[in-house]
Amino acid sequence: MADGSRERNEALFRNVNEQIEDLSKTVPPDEPLMEFLCECDNRDCVEKISATRAEYEAVRSVATHFIVVPGHEDPDIEHIALQNERFRVVEKEGRAAREAEEGEPGET
Ligand SMILES: [Zn+2]
Repeated sequence: MADGSRERNEALFRNVNEQIEDLSKTVPPDEPLMEFLCECDNRDCVEKISATRAEYEAVRSVATHFIVVPGHEDPDIEHIALQNERFRVVEKEGRAAREAEEGEPGET
């Protein structure tokens, strides 16, 4: 006598899963893009980067990581740790990395 109800349950779960799948396709990313200033070494640079708060916080969570406009990286002192169509994340190397970790620009 339980057979009928079990089939109904499976159909119900399948329906719920299909609804979840539909929702995940239509719901836009909940993180709005924000504007951040390029963090490259050019002090005159005023270019802006579009990133979500979560993306920027992920960059800031690593002392040697900085967010820059594509093309603003300096291969002499840093390498690209992450990149997408909106921005690049550079990881400082050597002396620049130590300065970044200490939080003090060595020359100013
Ligand atoms: Zn820049």
